[in-house]
Amino acid sequence: MMERFVFLETDYVPDLDMLRDGKFYHGDVDSPAVARLLERCRAVVRPRAVAACVEVSHDSEGHVTAVGGEEMSSPVLDGQLGKLHRAFAYVATCGPEIAGVDYEGDDELRRALLAFCIGALNAVTGKMTAALTERYHLGKTAVLNPGSLPEWPLAEQDKVFRLLGDVTGDTGAVLGENHFMSPLASSSGLLFETEQDYQNCSYCTNFGCVIRRAPYDPEKAAQLRK
Ligand code: SF4
Repeated sequence: MMERFVFLETDYVPDLDMLRDGKFYHGDVDSPAVARLLERCRAVVRPRAVAACVEVSHDSEGHVTAVGGEEMSSPVLDGQLGKLHRAFAYVATCGPEIAGVDYEGDDELRRALLAFCIGALNAVTGKMTAALTERYHLGKTAVLNPGSLPEWPLAEQDKVFRLLGDVTGDTGAVLGENHFMSPLASSSGLLFETEQDYQNCSYCTNFGCVIRRAPYDPEKAAQLRK
């Protein structure tokens, strides 16, 4: 493994703005129950991430064959990493502390808690990206996430974890036998430098997704799946 980094985001303070867009929480944002939840979240939140610079290997035709020594192949990887020799494996998480906050058995509060957890995940992901960008003098970056698209399935998440050593010890994120991570507001993948505006979502047909970051692009999707 090349350089490895652990990040703790200490500046993130959950606030009610995460609830106001109505994507997750549909109740009264100013209710006493939400205020209690917010205080509990603020008391414990510790979003963390771990990342490592890893080598990207190719065959003679430019297809990706391995990342960090782990065998990996996918048209998604070929499309984005085909001309690169390094990427950054990472796992980022809201942390088990906030994910385990008491939501009083209330389903709407559970949704509010998920929104705060996603805010924490986004905060530490931003911190990690900024730090890697500064350390490696990167330009524009994007990420590939196993399981976002069927062409790079969720089981590949196991390999990303193997690249990073003691992920659970450093972040609290746990990888289950079903390849899903806990807490739910966690993300794994490969960050890479690119001149394109790559987003997994442009290729994704999960049209009900509330965290979609880019519209579905049928032309790009057809290009990937030709
Ligand atoms: S639309 Fe949602 S499920 Fe699909 S890649 Fe984007 S974030 Fe993931």
